[in-house]
Amino acid sequence: MSVFDKIESEVRSYCRSWPVVFDTAVGSRISDTDGRSYLDFFAGAGALNYGHNNPVLKNAVIEYLLRDGVTHSLDMHTVAKRDFLETFAEVVLAPRELDYKVMFPGPAGANAVEAALKLARKVTGRQSIINFTNAFHGMTLGALSVTGNSLKRGGAGIPLVHATPMPFDNYLDGQTPDFLLFERLLQDSGSGLNEPAAVIVETVQGEGGINVARVEWLRALSELCQRHGILLIFDDVQMGCGRTGPFFSFEAAGIKPDIVCLSKSIGGFGLPLGLTLLRPELDIWEPGEHNGTFRGVNPAFVAATEAIRTYWTDDTLEKSTLAKGEQVGRALAELAQAYPGLQARGRGLARGLRFESGELAGQVCRAAFERGLLMETAGPDGEVAKVMPPLTVSDAELEEGLVVIAAAVQATVGGRR
Ligand code: PLP
Repeated sequence: MSVFDKIESEVRSYCRSWPVVFDTAVGSRISDTDGRSYLDFFAGAGALNYGHNNPVLKNAVIEYLLRDGVTHSLDMHTVAKRDFLETFAEVVLAPRELDYKVMFPGPAGANAVEAALKLARKVTGRQSIINFTNAFHGMTLGALSVTGNSLKRGGAGIPLVHATPMPFDNYLDGQTPDFLLFERLLQDSGSGLNEPAAVIVETVQGEGGINVARVEWLRALSELCQRHGILLIFDDVQMGCGRTGPFFSFEAAGIKPDIVCLSKSIGGFGLPLGLTLLRPELDIWEPGEHNGTFRGVNPAFVAATEAIRTYWTDDTLEKSTLAKGEQVGRALAELAQAYPGLQARGRGLARGLRFESGELAGQVCRAAFERGLLMETAGPDGEVAKVMPPLTVSDAELEEGLVVIAAAVQATVGGRR
């Protein structure tokens, strides 16, 4: 019996899909202790947009450690944090005409979401939040209250309150005008809807099954929030940092959210870093009113700064992500055409292939693993195989991965035609 079976909690999950011991990883590949190499089209669930052990980021971190740069600093001022803030403001915010203050809420996506929800409630004095069907915002109680998945919600052990789900884009198959229900509930003083402090939304629901919101839907949501004085929170934890092409996934819709959550790939190297961005007028926090021990992981600041300088001073990565995304999209669409019951979806390099059941999607991911590729499932029943290579994946690796995916689909559903 391995030490994992012996003492690690039953709560572990990804390791059940990939029952090997991983040891080294470079770029889009990860290797196990038997020396077998796998193409990683999981990319740390979006935390490894720049690949494993990206040499530029690695060197920056190594240099910082070798010169005895401060590693841990809560929210004290450090050179690494100064460099990060200056670079983030200059390269990411200013060119997009985004005026945000930066809050470090703790390293995880859930930390960024909790801070956003708390702030929206503090600013408006209201308690209720509007979330969307199949949303995923994290595992802490506030984040879980605005998450859809019933298994995950069940883990809370207490009622999850003060959140009201509305239909995400295309939830009603275009049969009902998009915000008919939401707007009517807001207008009707007899509807029973508690006045919302904020709406929290993802542009593409990653864990929810690669559900893509159309830009016009996002724009209409933003306008609705403005009309009704509701704060708009974009959770860009998984789709930010270039996953859909532009740095922020909402850029395509041309909107400016009140609050933005970032984590996962903002740390560049897979190091823990979370940000909650807020319009300056919303910055009514008292000093220390929200804090946390791991808000100043300086090697993460160093890697984040280097990642921004390397990949976001021009549009090379954005363009290549869009082009590679189109390529994956075409390959998945071909599979969907060849095998009835499959559906291709996604934007940028956040792509997915929906199957008729979670069982089938799981079998395809297992078949891919046997052929040397990591992909995870998403969606309420795990019915979507999620294709998320690092954005830095080479053309040859992408091509190789798509061939593996096609073979895995053929091996699994090919015989069922
Ligand atoms: N928000 C979104 C959109 C996510 O996809 C995730 C994680 O997958 C989270 C929040 C939670 O992030 P974390 O697992 O780092 O708490």
